[in-house]
Amino acid sequence: MNSTGSNIAADAFRRLHGAAPAGVWSAPGRVNLIGEHTDYNDGFVLPFAIPHRTWVAASPREDGVITLASVQDGQVEVAEPVRLAELEPGTVQGWVAYPAGVAWVLRQQGVGGGADLVVAGDVPRGAGLSSSHSLEVATALALLGLSGADPSRSDIAKWVQQAENDFVGAPTGLLDQTASLCCTDAHVLFLDVRSGRQEQVPFDAGAHGLEVLVIDTRVSHSLVESGYGERRRGCERAADVLGVASLRDAAGEEGLPDELRPLARHVITENERVLKTVELLKQERYAEIGPLLSASHASLRDDYRVSCVELDVAAEAAEKAGALGARMIGGGFGGSAIALVPRELRERVETGVAEAFAAHGFGSPRMFAAVPSAGAGRDV
Ligand code: ADP
Ligand code: MG
Repeated sequence: MNSTGSNIAADAFRRLHGAAPAGVWSAPGRVNLIGEHTDYNDGFVLPFAIPHRTWVAASPREDGVITLASVQDGQVEVAEPVRLAELEPGTVQGWVAYPAGVAWVLRQQGVGGGADLVVAGDVPRGAGLSSSHSLEVATALALLGLSGADPSRSDIAKWVQQAENDFVGAPTGLLDQTASLCCTDAHVLFLDVRSGRQEQVPFDAGAHGLEVLVIDTRVSHSLVESGYGERRRGCERAADVLGVASLRDAAGEEGLPDELRPLARHVITENERVLKTVELLKQERYAEIGPLLSASHASLRDDYRVSCVELDVAAEAAEKAGALGARMIGGGFGGSAIALVPRELRERVETGVAEAFAAHGFGSPRMFAAVPSAGAGRDV
């Protein structure tokens, strides 16, 4: 575990509040190995936690006020305090909406009071690695920890979803916060969103001479939110036409109007790819996952149509330089891709991607190898 982030948050807390925090809680960002845009269709996902985290140093307050500060590159940004009783969706803007939304939901559940919160984090923001959920989950654990409440992690995941959907106003599913809460070191989390069933599947790419390279394109196109909502509504309509509860239950795309067919096709085939990936991992046939990642990318690009030129270039260039497979992750229209790379080819792949970006006139991507890391918890 990275103790530096915890110290940064605790030190800033001491400087701001003149005393040590009562505790420090943290939560990771995530990479989804496969299973994209399946969570809000009651389907399967397979995320793992990355080493990058958000830490929240916290102490309780008696006056029903939440104070917030965020440390970034040694600079402390202090936000306007918010009064719990006055919180309503739309009353708080910017980054404060994420922790305030969590406090708002917890208050409705009858837990959590006022608190001083100081945030530090190293999850790249807006990169599709879920910095927002790591902030929300760490805040939820801090507020719950201060109040002595100990609800189940699936309840916390649902509350965080309410915070993001109803307070922040982003119509996201259950994947990101569940990953941040429930992933464990050295495993991918096989989650059936419909039943809530979870299975920790060992994932040690290194033992197979492989690495999962994250390629952050550093672009985020304006379609991110509108495109996501549109796809969600399209899936709901498709399920209605097919007469099923959700696309999880669809056997095929027959009977759908032309514009909905590719959406259903993506969800159906992506769920199958998740199941196949889990099977291959259990059989230790890691290299064979590569083509499934590439098929997932093609499906997201051609059927679901949530990719963008930077993500396509990243995936193609990685494969051309020797990656066994590559795909965009997250909502799409920017953010990050992952590539499954033989260790000895890592440098070649990084160079290949960087050169392809330069040739297209894109800015430099940020790349790092991600190993499955610990989920959210209390640090201090
Ligand atoms: P992603 O979740 O993919 O990183 P989002 O746009 O959903 O992208 O969330 C990014 C937002 O989360 C940032 O713009 C910021 O408002 C908030 N955020 C994340 N981490 C922090 C942090 N350490 N301090 C303050 N705000 C943060
Ligand atoms: Mg987010």
